Amino acid sequence: MNKTLKQVQKEVDVWAKQFKEPYFPPLSRMAAMTEEVGEVARVINRMYGSKKAKPEEAIVDLEEELGDVLFTLTCMANAEGIDLTKAFERKMEKVNNRDTSRFEKK
Ligand SMILES: [Mg+2]
Repeated sequence: MNKTLKQVQKEVDVWAKQFKEPYFPPLSRMAAMTEEVGEVARVINRMYGSKKAKPEEAIVDLEEELGDVLFTLTCMANAEGIDLTKAFERKMEKVNNRDTSRFEKK
């Protein structure tokens, strides 16, 4: 099922608002996001570092951890009233214009 970023934000918000305190306080949100990014690093290290995991297990773990990052990112955006579609459009505008000659093209 394909979801738009708007739908993702709404789904997380509906879930969060069942709780008395829907989103963690700002610094806890930042810590949660940092933790999840660290978990991505742990999986990448197992995939490409000296302590190898089974590739098929690692890719499932990476998918899970990227999902965690997406979730914490969405919580942060929702709590701060940020529209991720707009944020993404701004980023693409940057990479397509400002940074257009930064990397060698095919
Ligand atoms: Mg995680």
